[in-house]
Amino acid sequence: MQPICPACGHENGQYRADDAAPYFTILAVGHLVIGPILVFPFILTAPIGLVLGTTLPALVVVTLGLLPVIKGAVIGGLWAVRGPADVSIT
Ligand SMILES: [Zn+2]
Repeated sequence: MQPICPACGHENGQYRADDAAPYFTILAVGHLVIGPILVFPFILTAPIGLVLGTTLPALVVVTLGLLPVIKGAVIGGLWAVRGPADVSIT
């Protein structure tokens, strides 16, 4: 996320996403990828090296691909509900 919006100049750096973005990313990946992948029997029958070698890189790519998008959504949510960041909460 860019600290200053290139389109409108709004200061996005004032919003603190903290752990919300990784939390929602893990929540989404867990429910949309890891849960459904357990339906496929290959997870249980294929050699462990093959399963880990294929699923872990895919999970890393999906997680790191989703993280900036979800962080932007968290920042957008903070902007929508609070307006300017509340600096009295530390
Ligand atoms: Zn903007």
